[in-house]
Amino acid sequence: MGAFPEPLRRLIDALGQLPGVGPQTAERLAFHLLQADKPEAVELAAAINAVKEKLHPCPSCFAATPEPCCEICADSARDQGLILVVETERELAAFERMGRFGGVYQVLGGRASAAEGRRYAAAAIERLKQRVSSGQVREVILGTNPDKHGDLALRSVVAALQDAGVRITRLARGLPQGANIEYLGAPILDEALQERRSLGGEN
Ligand SMILES: [Zn+2]
Repeated sequence: MGAFPEPLRRLIDALGQLPGVGPQTAERLAFHLLQADKPEAVELAAAINAVKEKLHPCPSCFAATPEPCCEICADSARDQGLILVVETERELAAFERMGRFGGVYQVLGGRASAAEGRRYAAAAIERLKQRVSSGQVREVILGTNPDKHGDLALRSVVAALQDAGVRITRLARGLPQGANIEYLGAPILDEALQERRSLGGEN
């Protein structure tokens, strides 16, 4: 029997599982919700539920979407021959905010847990290989973060596409090691994309 009644304990435990939320913050948030007006708390629960119920991975790029196919893949104005590989939807959103990328994406999948992430990335890389083998892809750009996890993802993709006969490039080396694409300004991101480096792969 803990210091808090069971439903509250359960909420504290659930909030404590979130990234960046320590035990004290989890308690503070739980008490906030306990004291909040019921509609506020119910809306939060409904929003969480909607994210899990209504979104699923796009069958092509794996980005979360409520539609059968995501808006970007379904857009005939986007260049389907140019695929930008990103780790999560957060980097995808950063490139979309930048607004100067006209191709499509492949989302490798989150870092929620290492094992989960690896499984998801393996499925995404397999999907990417299929897309490339369709023969309509001219170039795969690796837009992974310049950090340990991103470099690992980058190497996996390069290894998988080595014999695929497609041009493989990566973002320009101007990005500082450990930088997070999500927080880079549009001009820096645009420059990194425009001045991308070839990693080979062409036949
Ligand atoms: Zn898509």
